[in-house]
Amino acid sequence: MSDSKQAAGPVFEVLPRDLSAYRQGNVGIDYVHRFESGQPGPHVLINALTHGNELCGMVAATHLLDSGVRPLRGTLTVSFANVAAYESFDIERPFESRQLVHNLNRVWSAAELEGSEDSPELRRARELRPVVAAADHILDIHSTSQDVQPFWVYPAYARNAEVALAVGLPPVHMVMPSGLGSGTPLIQHGRHGEADSDAGAALVVECGQHFLQSAADTATAAALGFLAHFGLIEAASAPAQRPQPRRYELLQTCLVQTSDFAFTRPLIGFESFAEGELIARDGPHEIRAVCDDCTVMMPTRAPVVGREAVYLTRPL
Ligand SMILES: [Zn+2]
Repeated sequence: MSDSKQAAGPVFEVLPRDLSAYRQGNVGIDYVHRFESGQPGPHVLINALTHGNELCGMVAATHLLDSGVRPLRGTLTVSFANVAAYESFDIERPFESRQLVHNLNRVWSAAELEGSEDSPELRRARELRPVVAAADHILDIHSTSQDVQPFWVYPAYARNAEVALAVGLPPVHMVMPSGLGSGTPLIQHGRHGEADSDAGAALVVECGQHFLQSAADTATAAALGFLAHFGLIEAASAPAQRPQPRRYELLQTCLVQTSDFAFTRPLIGFESFAEGELIARDGPHEIRAVCDDCTVMMPTRAPVVGREAVYLTRPL
């Protein structure tokens, strides 16, 4: 990204739309819609808006509902997670509506869900818990603050890798051998977070920059591809040649520790560093590359103490 583009702020090709028509679901939980085929088959959850300003998931979920998609087999659930944060969207501060209080993608441990803390996100997670727990396979749709290529994120279980590779696009994978390292994301709730379980796949797809049409298109394609993989909808004809997959392994999740945090140069993601090279200073602390070809993912655009600063990965 050039300096001039950064100075100009994000491009808004997609903006929030009124979701009130989707509030009344059919399972007794707002913004949750379930369709039973009456035929045997898996229960697949397509979840949007875990982060309120990640608009691509909203486009994909509304596409499914507006087009009247119905599963050929199994069960389809479509949910909009953090609508409260989404509704706080302000074009002057478009990154603020990611969450109201808590990060809804870090609170999915039993301890958080059953704890005594309270926030709009914790209340919503507690409401959505049975929806997430009921699904065999989960696609949680996200986007990034910077304009980078789309990628999958998932715990490094074979059951996840298999599905992400089979769906094909996007071709880039960030796998997490030991989880996210900063709380429990939705895709690691319950049995989906256990290595030895009978759970199905649970994947995040990061579709590109929050407000770009390309991210919305990627989200819709990923949702349709995910549903087709499990036979809930007819498969679209596959592209003749798929790009070779590229996989990165998460090595370390770095949190912002002080208000005096700065990267040594502007980063958007996918830059690589040599072992020992300085990536950021954080008050008295330093973040350095932990290996050669150490590749940064999702560098924060506005550091907040206690939130993620950057993910350090290496290509596999
Ligand atoms: Zn997100």
